[in-house]
Amino acid sequence: MKIANIETFLLKVALGSDRFYSSQCAFPDRSSLLVKITTDSGICGWGECGQYGPGEPISAAINHVLAPVIMNQFVQPNVLWEKMYAATRDFGQKGTYIEAISGIDIALWDILGKEYKRPICEIIGGKNRDAVTAYATGCYYRGEDYLNPQKNFSLLEDEARSFVDNGFSIVKMKIGLLSCTDDLKRVEVVRQTIGNNVKLLIDCNHSYNYFTVKKMCQFLKDYDIGWLEEPVVPEDKKSYALLRQNSAVPIAGGECEYTRYGYQDFLEQGCVDIAQPDICVCGGLSEVQKINVLTTVHGVMNIPHVWGSAVALAAALQYVATLPAFPHTAMPVALQNEPIIEYDQNPNPLRDELCNENFILEHNRVAVPQKPGLGITINEEVLDTYCVAHSEV
Ligand code: CA
Repeated sequence: MKIANIETFLLKVALGSDRFYSSQCAFPDRSSLLVKITTDSGICGWGECGQYGPGEPISAAINHVLAPVIMNQFVQPNVLWEKMYAATRDFGQKGTYIEAISGIDIALWDILGKEYKRPICEIIGGKNRDAVTAYATGCYYRGEDYLNPQKNFSLLEDEARSFVDNGFSIVKMKIGLLSCTDDLKRVEVVRQTIGNNVKLLIDCNHSYNYFTVKKMCQFLKDYDIGWLEEPVVPEDKKSYALLRQNSAVPIAGGECEYTRYGYQDFLEQGCVDIAQPDICVCGGLSEVQKINVLTTVHGVMNIPHVWGSAVALAAALQYVATLPAFPHTAMPVALQNEPIIEYDQNPNPLRDELCNENFILEHNRVAVPQKPGLGITINEEVLDTYCVAHSEV
């Protein structure tokens, strides 16, 4: 079974008044780059990349650089991963090229699953669970008054309450855009709204320097925070390590790290308690397994970052299903030693409409798709609706 055709689909959906903001930027739309690979036997697999960076350069990297490397080759994800990495090492290693490799790699595993008629979790080693405890990602800055916390509190409360009402037992919110004083008030609002039985995670999107976040942690420790995510910029590994040593709040990060090589450095420097490789960014399903070897030997929990369409979510569910409890106990507890899955609750038609299956939360958990490959079928009509650029090699 050889690779016969490679397509990319650049997807974009404007959010209109549903736009939201993190500490770094506005989200006026949701976008993604899907990769479709078809074999000479007619099987097609889907992968995703370009969910937080622009998809256009990734599409160019696939069409002009990586497609010639893998075209007419046998579908062997690890073999082709090394070929693609070697072909782009001199100018790649991080960023666009690794995202491109990620999208291709996920599509290749989808093909293998379909060929063997098993979900990916079973062909990469077997599953430790049929469903994964999900956490709600939301509580960004919203509405016309998003810069005015007082005017924004009721929206924030409504959103936090909706997560609990919908059955989530873990909620993640954003800080870092406003002053520390105002953002701490937002944390207080969310904590009061969700109550003490729901776990609260906080994401800074690398908005602080060390001395500011050190001070923030002094206050945050009173709010029973499950983890503080991306407290400082990803390049500043010394501050990460200092904070991890000195903070009572666990430190998470890694969605901007690439490959086993990036993770080796990140982990050896002692940056995080929880590593968050993004499968569509870090190198795909082949590479995240290698990253997990490193996190395991460093005593760091691996809870992948998930952001994007139904393809990204399905890939993450397939992978998290394979992760053992960390460490083993007779009755693993979510977030404590049982891996969980990030379930973005921000508006995103690419997540909700693109595949014919639904990711339904039941008893805090989302079921791992059981159909072959990623376990999802792409709705080509929806794909056409949101596709702004298509390429084929
Ligand atoms: Ca994040």
